[in-house]
Amino acid sequence: MADVKEKPAIASCSFCRKPNSEVEKLVAGPGVFICDGCVTLAARVIADASTVSTSDSPVAPWDVEMSLDAVLATLGSVAAAGEQAERNLAIWVAKARSLGGTWSQIGQALGMARQSAWERFAAED
Ligand SMILES: [Zn+2]
Repeated sequence: MADVKEKPAIASCSFCRKPNSEVEKLVAGPGVFICDGCVTLAARVIADASTVSTSDSPVAPWDVEMSLDAVLATLGSVAAAGEQAERNLAIWVAKARSLGGTWSQIGQALGMARQSAWERFAAED
């Protein structure tokens, strides 16, 4: 492993939770990330016509029948993705502040009152 260049862990794939240091590429979205492996898997799912929903009423992932073990495993993944998105939001708010953004502007961008934005993010300011 000596020839593998160490990459600092910045974020993890929101789908498989692997950090950027363990994947080839990690693509950033708004508070979420997807790795090259999950993009490949998603492309296979999309290309597989048998998995494409033709129903007028698509099924939400939580409405799919699954075991308690599978649901419990999903809880951890959903919580980890949510925590990463929340950390990312705080970083983006700090960036807005560093660029001179006011709490009023940040609150407006987030659809909340200036006071609510300040209460939620000022501790990290
Ligand atoms: Zn992934």
